Amino acid sequence: MNKQILGYKCKKCGHVQYPYHSRCKKCGHTEWRGFDIVFDTAPLPQDGKLLTFTHLYALPPDFEAVTVSFGIVELSDGHRITGQLKIEAPKIGMKVQGKVELVRQEGYTKHWGLVFYSAA
Ligand SMILES: [Zn+2]
Repeated sequence: MNKQILGYKCKKCGHVQYPYHSRCKKCGHTEWRGFDIVFDTAPLPQDGKLLTFTHLYALPPDFEAVTVSFGIVELSDGHRITGQLKIEAPKIGMKVQGKVELVRQEGYTKHWGLVFYSAA
């Protein structure tokens, strides 16, 4: 089964945010001592459009790659997400398709994140 990235949908206003915060950025709805469940989880769409990107060098050694590109992608539901790019020559506005991959490993802790590929 493919892994998915879950967004957190505010039960009060319906705003979806990612990554997780205990407080809704839009309406301010917040958890109260953990009793009030604020968010439903919903898988985020994984296809979208590249808004901007940057190349990073000299990452900490626990990253899988030495040089990586990161982009901000507008997903098909309008949500914006930062993810790693595996695209040789990224272009602003291009269509991308995300896949959940292992992006970082610290000891036994694995970090999964969205990695975007060209959808063209
Ligand atoms: Zn809200």
